[in-house]
Amino acid sequence: MAAMAVALRGLGGRFRWRTQAVAGGVRGAARGAAAGQRDYDLLVVGGGSGGLACAKEAAQLGRKVAVVDYVEPSPQGTRWGLGGTCVNVGCIPKKLMHQAALLGGLIQDAPNYGWEVAQPVPHDWRKMAEAVQNHVKSLNWGHRVQLQDRKVKYFNIKASFVDEHTVCGVAKGGKEILLSADHIIIATGGRPRYPTHIEGALEYGITSDDIFWLKESPGKTLVVGASYVALECAGFLTGIGLDTTIMMRSIPLRGFDQQMSSMVIEHMASHGTRFLRGCAPSRVRRLPDGQLQVTWEDRTTGKEDTGTFDTVLWAIAPRISACLPTTVGHAGKNQRRD
Ligand SMILES: Cc1cc2nc3c(=O)[nH]c(=O)nc-3n(C[C@H](O)[C@H](O)[C@H](O)COP(=O)(O)OP(=O)(O)OC[C@H]3O[C@@H](n4cnc5c(N)ncnc54)[C@H](O)[C@@H]3O)c2cc1C
Repeated sequence: MAAMAVALRGLGGRFRWRTQAVAGGVRGAARGAAAGQRDYDLLVVGGGSGGLACAKEAAQLGRKVAVVDYVEPSPQGTRWGLGGTCVNVGCIPKKLMHQAALLGGLIQDAPNYGWEVAQPVPHDWRKMAEAVQNHVKSLNWGHRVQLQDRKVKYFNIKASFVDEHTVCGVAKGGKEILLSADHIIIATGGRPRYPTHIEGALEYGITSDDIFWLKESPGKTLVVGASYVALECAGFLTGIGLDTTIMMRSIPLRGFDQQMSSMVIEHMASHGTRFLRGCAPSRVRRLPDGQLQVTWEDRTTGKEDTGTFDTVLWAIAPRISACLPTTVGHAGKNQRRD
């Protein structure tokens, strides 16, 4: 987990419960947040798995805690609620879509076990996506309730540092909020990376931040990358019957046991996922019929090739660590991140 405790040193002291509108600029307001007058014992920036667990635990230990969480919409405009990557665009929706794929496999096997299921059984992406998205929304709500129950104050603002004990952000109505705490934890996680050097990548591609929130089936999909996110997404897309190709430049699952990685690839290939190995995309263009034409270089032969897809999903590692900007000057040690 990318959550990083930057300044969690012996929580102490009781401070007044106070949210200030920034009057006279953040510098002036920050000067007012001296030790002993701070709003919270602990402020957690990031409401993902790491941040929420940390905030709830500290509150349980009797500390005055606040969580600040804000989701920057994906370049394609996808946005989601409280709970971070795992809940909204990671583990949870992924496992539900894998479950959909596994059920499809069982239905195919069923006639061999005496079940009279007319084949083929079509899959409805819309229905699956709606159910997955509703489940995720219920988890967003559950997280809010849990924070409330533990008296952890939640702010839906994008935080930036003013100084090492103060962050500021802008609330929905445009009002600037300044929050101070004895200790601030950065738990801002990470986001998928776009290969912006590739023409059309940002304009026409999506990432794992979008795939779970698509209302319509992605159709014939090219997944670019060999990360676990790439393989997992390609796995459930293949499993629900979509024509799915993985394009990888070098080895799959770098950093994982390579014998296991090979077995994963073999298994996926035997279940219908196509692989373009040793290939690197160079261009994505939209054709008049709406399809995406991808051009790539086969690094073994040095030749250029093209293919058409409905969706291009970038899943290249490493993900980008979310940056916590500094509003005023240098924020000191709290600015560090992994
Ligand atoms: C497709 C996919 C599948 C995965 N599957 C698994 C799995 O099966 N098992 C597993 O263990 N892990 C899985 N992971 C990884 C897991 O989701 C992450 O490791 C985990 O969510 C990281 O939690 P976190 O709290 O560090 O960060 P996040 O969950 O990313 O939370 C950080 C939060 O901080 C917010 N934020 C960032 N900057 C600011 C700011 N300046 N102000 C306010 N808020 C801010 C972000 O918007 C986000 O809501 C998966 C990831 C992906 C993408």
